[in-house]
Amino acid sequence: MEIKRAKNRFFLLGVSLALLGWITTSCNQTPKSDPVSLKDYGAEPTVINIDAYTMSNSNFRTALWTGVNLQSTLMSIPVGGDVGLEKHPATDQFLRIEEGTAQVVMGDTETSLSFVKTAGKDFAIFVPAGKWHNIINTGNKPLKLYSIYSPAEHPHGTIHKTQEEAEEAEEAANQHFFNKNENFMTRELIQLPYATDALAPAISRQTIEFHHGKHLQGYVNNLKNLIQGTEFANADLETMVRESDGAIFNNAGQILNHNLYFLQFSPTGGGNPSGRLAQAINAAFGSFENFQKEFETAGVGLFGSGWVWLAADRDGKLSITKESNAGNPLTKGLKPILTFDVWEHAYYLDFQNRRADQLKSLWSIVDWKIVESRY
Ligand code: MN
Repeated sequence: MEIKRAKNRFFLLGVSLALLGWITTSCNQTPKSDPVSLKDYGAEPTVINIDAYTMSNSNFRTALWTGVNLQSTLMSIPVGGDVGLEKHPATDQFLRIEEGTAQVVMGDTETSLSFVKTAGKDFAIFVPAGKWHNIINTGNKPLKLYSIYSPAEHPHGTIHKTQEEAEEAEEAANQHFFNKNENFMTRELIQLPYATDALAPAISRQTIEFHHGKHLQGYVNNLKNLIQGTEFANADLETMVRESDGAIFNNAGQILNHNLYFLQFSPTGGGNPSGRLAQAINAAFGSFENFQKEFETAGVGLFGSGWVWLAADRDGKLSITKESNAGNPLTKGLKPILTFDVWEHAYYLDFQNRRADQLKSLWSIVDWKIVESRY
């Protein structure tokens, strides 16, 4: 009965759509769109005339729609200008030219741009992740195009009036959060600032010995071998986490994550944060108790292996993020402040499958002075 009803519904929907299609074609009218209002429509249902919007945009870049997995931006490249030579390590990009003439170049390195094509109005350009690329305005009027990134490339609401402004924003975004000389930035196995049995019962001696002495040591050994002869041979951990992928990312991420994790604990830890961090936690989560609850819920709800983080944006606004495997909020442009490891290797010897109990117990050893110093 239910199935039949559903079928009827689909039939009616089909008829209505066909009718609508017929009306639309027989009237042969372009649907009227609302007046152009250039802004970032965010992850909201949106229908606009993309041609009209692209033609109305005179900024170098205007973010038009920023979703979770996809983003669209409008671009206007002045006569003689270009988009700028760049590559997106893990982002595919689509561009469509609405007006103007361009030369498109792509290649595997900055200096070997062997792919060269001319493109103009109504042309589409597909740029694979990892390819160096540039689009040069070779015409005599502004080059009007729109771009689709997957995943999103720019912060929600981005407006860059000029290319210079875009480059400044890029530079600011690439600025490191951490000084490479900070103790948790080392690629060597960190020395623990407490005895291996000092954190019990939150973390037992046996867990520390395996977690620090075997698991973390393993990542340190792997990374050493992986980066030999690569562009990351002399890079610091933050650079590797921001810019690498695959095995180098996994091992560098696990080292940075574990360094932040182990060095935030103390046998005299526990209690509440104070100062600026305490205020920011209250502002973001209502209270410290509520923050703890949300943090634990995020950790328990993370499927499989990963890390739950307290992270800050460049304005200091706090959020909780869940990252799977070796993930770190750095790849989202956020500064990592506090983290709980929810890989089973972090708690299985002490708590077996009771991840929630482990997370609850970790509060008793958090050294808030150290966590505050990261904020
Ligand atoms: Mn771990």
